[in-house]
Amino acid sequence: MAKEQKKGTIGVQTENIFPVIKKFLYSDNEIFLRELVSNAVDATLKLETLSSMGKIQGELGDTTIEVKLLEKKKQLVISDKGIGMTAEEVERYINNIAFSGASEFLDKYKEVDAAKLIGHFGLGFYSAFMVADRVEILTKSYQDAPAVHWECDGNTEFILEEGKKEERGTDIILHISDDAKEFLDEVRILNLLKKYGKFLPVPVRFGNEKKWEKPEGEEKEKEIEVPRIINNTKPLWKRNPSELKEEDYEKFYRELYPYSFDQPLFHIHINIEYPFQLTGILYFPKAKERIEVQKDKIQLYCNQVFITDNVEGIVPEFLMLLHGVIDSPDIPLNVSRSYLQSDSNVKKISSHITKKVADKLEEMFKNDRADFEKKWDDIRTFMEYGVLTDEKFFERAEKFMLLKNTEGKFFTLDEYEKKIETLQKDKDSNLVHLYCTNAEEQYAPLQEAKAKGYDVLLLDGILDVHFINFLEQKKEKTRYARIDADIIDKLIPKEEELPSKFTEEEQQKIKALFEKNLPEGKFDIRLENMSENDLPLYITRPEFMRRWNDMQKMSGQPTFFGMDNEKCTLSVNTNHPIVAALLNDTDEAHTQETCSQLIDLAMLSQQMLKGEALSKFIERSVGMIR
Ligand code: ADP
Repeated sequence: MAKEQKKGTIGVQTENIFPVIKKFLYSDNEIFLRELVSNAVDATLKLETLSSMGKIQGELGDTTIEVKLLEKKKQLVISDKGIGMTAEEVERYINNIAFSGASEFLDKYKEVDAAKLIGHFGLGFYSAFMVADRVEILTKSYQDAPAVHWECDGNTEFILEEGKKEERGTDIILHISDDAKEFLDEVRILNLLKKYGKFLPVPVRFGNEKKWEKPEGEEKEKEIEVPRIINNTKPLWKRNPSELKEEDYEKFYRELYPYSFDQPLFHIHINIEYPFQLTGILYFPKAKERIEVQKDKIQLYCNQVFITDNVEGIVPEFLMLLHGVIDSPDIPLNVSRSYLQSDSNVKKISSHITKKVADKLEEMFKNDRADFEKKWDDIRTFMEYGVLTDEKFFERAEKFMLLKNTEGKFFTLDEYEKKIETLQKDKDSNLVHLYCTNAEEQYAPLQEAKAKGYDVLLLDGILDVHFINFLEQKKEKTRYARIDADIIDKLIPKEEELPSKFTEEEQQKIKALFEKNLPEGKFDIRLENMSENDLPLYITRPEFMRRWNDMQKMSGQPTFFGMDNEKCTLSVNTNHPIVAALLNDTDEAHTQETCSQLIDLAMLSQQMLKGEALSKFIERSVGMIR
């Protein structure tokens, strides 16, 4: 190219591409920096590749990318020492915005998410016009060719001429427009570089920073200025797990979440090469009281360029309980979430991550079961959430989902079925899994179940009720019953009921006696023909209602009938001698006292006797001793 200046028109089929870019991407205009720095990284990596292939002779020298802010001149400059471009390449890559269907797109741009344009159609460079009203390129190719100066003021006309530049590489000079002055602020640019470029593979410098150091031969530390490099070019997920220690992962966790005090429980280092490339590290947090699906705890990268930390719809919901990073060149570099969610690659990636996580957990279970059991209480919620929301995950996790009994022993679902097979089958061959949610509060029924030789699970997790509902649907002939849901013989009914010793009339009389002395509205009375050795009265909480209430409470909805004091069943054992004696008791005051005492004792065993009722009970009991 001679020293002439060339004017031309940018090769898009329409005049007004820039207003479109400006208008539609305005809200997200900060991504221009990500786009331009990514181009600089690409140009540098290409150079390194050529050099390693022997296509470039000699040393490459320092290839640090520099971002410079010239506030007075209202300029932001991105300089790289990469492959650069020849005049011909500028024509090809910059002037011809290479995408088809631009006019078609513009015809209907109102409905289309214009962000799709970026990246997808190779419009990255042009995003510069979102913040600049004039852009210059000064570039010199690694090939022996004159430097090139290109300039464009946001219309479709450009200038292309020979430029003055000795060093290989490209400077992109942005003349920041008045409505984008925020990008002339150092802190704003620094934060943006840290957000998008914290792990870029080529060092990126932005000005200097002050550091305290002891210069050689001197005694005292001195404050000195050093180049401020904003990135860690070798983030942990890109390194080989075999050369990493536990501390490295913990340190990296701190690097990712500098403001978090949590300690991760363990991690999974993912490295998939086929059918697509994906690397990443996922951390399992320690269990919390509440489920925290935080949508911003997993960061998504494409070739070490940060894309988003809002992974909703991109990774399965239950994985959002985890923290960490996922990096794949197959995730399109795109700001539009709806686009990402509908991308078929992204969908495949998501199911693959689920598979990897399940594989890793299975490996942990198989290799060191004792350790896996130790971690179980912390990962249980994650596992149950996965099973409940992702059918595929259940298929994989079914083998190593654990149940814990009240003695603290762990069983897989299959192992537990075998354990209770002989004793806990009811007369219809249902396998009844007994459980309690609090061994102390449900102490009395727990002891009764144990006395019968039954095993009782401890299900005190926040998702357990949902989980057992799920299992009951999945597995045939399987039932779960909380130990206080009914009297023990009814929980696992084995044979026909015992006959009552009383006539129908006598039974009604007993019922009436207790009804008269009941606290209002709390109980339904039921007469049961149990053994003489069972207790005279039992209070139980019907499984269905209680479970329903528990689920309502969890989802934050008001409980049925405003029921915190759920209705319970009071079972009267008509075969018990004390109950029988009531029928012949002619002293009405004494009958009443006995009924109240029996009811209070039953309530006491369920920890339901409180306040005034408890005081009355104590008074009455003392009176009876005298
Ligand atoms: P994309 O990066 O998606 O291809 P861009 O519009 O950002 O789209 O860039 C178009 C092309 O211009 C790039 O593919 C590259 O060939 C060239 N290019 C852009 N920036 C640079 C740079 N800093 N150094 C060398 N070439 C560049």
